[in-house]
Amino acid sequence: MYDVAIIGSGIIGAALFRHLARFKLRTVLIERENDVALGATRANSAIVHAGYDPPNGSLMAKYNVEGNRMFDGLCQELSIPFRRNGSLVVALTQEESKGLESLLENGQRNGVPGLELWTQEHVAAMEPNLAPCRQALYAPTGGIVGVYELATALAENGLVNGGNVLLESEVIGIEKISGQPDYFNIKLCNGRVIASRFLVNAAGTWADKIHALIAPPNYKIHPNKGEYFLFDHSEGTRVSHTIFRVPSPLGKGVLVTPTVHGNLLVGPNSNSTDDPDDTATSDSGLNTVKVSALQTVPQLNFRKNIRNFAGVRARSDRQDFIVEEVADVPGMIDLAGIKSPGLSASPAIAIAATELLERAGLELTEKPTFISRREQIYFMSLSPQEKQKLIQENAAYGRIICRCESITEGEVLDSIRRPLGASTVDGVKRRCRPGSGRCQGGFCLPKVMTILARERGVPVEEIQQDRSGSWIVCPTNRKAQEETGGRCDV
Ligand SMILES: Cc1cc2nc3c(=O)[nH]c(=O)nc-3n(C[C@H](O)[C@H](O)[C@H](O)COP(=O)(O)OP(=O)(O)OC[C@H]3O[C@@H](n4cnc5c(N)ncnc54)[C@H](O)[C@@H]3O)c2cc1C
Repeated sequence: MYDVAIIGSGIIGAALFRHLARFKLRTVLIERENDVALGATRANSAIVHAGYDPPNGSLMAKYNVEGNRMFDGLCQELSIPFRRNGSLVVALTQEESKGLESLLENGQRNGVPGLELWTQEHVAAMEPNLAPCRQALYAPTGGIVGVYELATALAENGLVNGGNVLLESEVIGIEKISGQPDYFNIKLCNGRVIASRFLVNAAGTWADKIHALIAPPNYKIHPNKGEYFLFDHSEGTRVSHTIFRVPSPLGKGVLVTPTVHGNLLVGPNSNSTDDPDDTATSDSGLNTVKVSALQTVPQLNFRKNIRNFAGVRARSDRQDFIVEEVADVPGMIDLAGIKSPGLSASPAIAIAATELLERAGLELTEKPTFISRREQIYFMSLSPQEKQKLIQENAAYGRIICRCESITEGEVLDSIRRPLGASTVDGVKRRCRPGSGRCQGGFCLPKVMTILARERGVPVEEIQQDRSGSWIVCPTNRKAQEETGGRCDV
């Protein structure tokens, strides 16, 4: 019997899983996909928001500002790239200038430190590639982070500290069993039943459906899609801050931002969708993003676009994060409706959820053996002397696998061999970035596949790109034939 079962391994489930690992508890993280962080957590703007825009008094405001403060320590402990590059909300019109003043006031009430209004001249001096604007709100605590690296590291650290992670384990049923103590039986798609005293629903855009497995939900998730352009490194210095438009009731609007890996990211738009997993991009959606981005950064070179993607927001009809014990289901906690700024708020939500569990009866005894640090080598960030030493110790760090991003074989092997290691090509990419550069895997894909096959001891035909069923090579084994009907375009 587990003490706590968490459904969903996005940034919210993973942050809680890792936080609970500080205590003497039996904890399990249950995920339907073949890897962690494949929901909204893998497709978002990766901004650690300062917290000036969520309405004062909301949970979004509280956890955003608290969570933001925790990022330096957290990312340092887990070896995750994070930079406080600061954000700028630019007002292009007089109307928008008024919006800036209310944002400043709201931000100050939310407790965001260091907010300043910059004049047109100061903005032009600091960000020469912006369109002339009337004014901008500067937030020095805004930052950028490696988001799926962080979620994966949180889950890995929870695992290293004694938790359990179940992948390819979709939850299809939940039952509350009376006993001494009461517990939940959680039914998985593979026939397994997991027993746990406490249950946390962190299922993102599916949270209302998970809630409905045990009680009628008192909220509904309305999935909302945002599309993006990712640009090559050559556009990566077009701006140095994260550039926002003045937010509207639809959201924060289209932003232009450097990424922690030296690219430029532009997006998202905002479109309702019925499908909680709808991550298709569209011409019209991307065009809306392009038009808006060019209004703030007119010289953006869209020919340097190397990838497009979309993520789905878990907007609920409550307009705020839902962080509460489920009414009439003692011991079950909902972490639902976690739209933006959910990433920024995630460390604070993990603490709040732990407090809710404690109030519901979970005993928390600190574990003196908790290992907070996690090391990861980023070869290109080492000094020449460090690189040389590392290659002498392990020749795999002397072989480049991804030419665009200069990723070594040593890093690829580490991403596969470490706890909760990658089992797919995109799993390797999310952990150490081969295939993230200009050629998008054109050169390194066969090498990564070969290494994965060798490490896992399987034929290369069995290596998948991403989710279950995404074979790259025409399937030759019978199981694959059966599952795909012999098609090789899956
Ligand atoms: C376009 C966009 C831009 C955003 N930009 C930002 C930003 O810049 N900064 C910021 O702070 N926030 C941002 N956000 C919000 C942030 O991405 C989310 O708040 C956060 O990723 C939500 O994490 P989660 O763990 O709740 O959900 P998810 O990451 O979606 O994870 C839920 C998990 O539950 C799993 N699951 C679902 N059903 C089941 C089941 N039945 N059984 C087992 N597992 C199941 C899913 O597979 C998934 O892995 C953005 C969101 C979007 C969509």
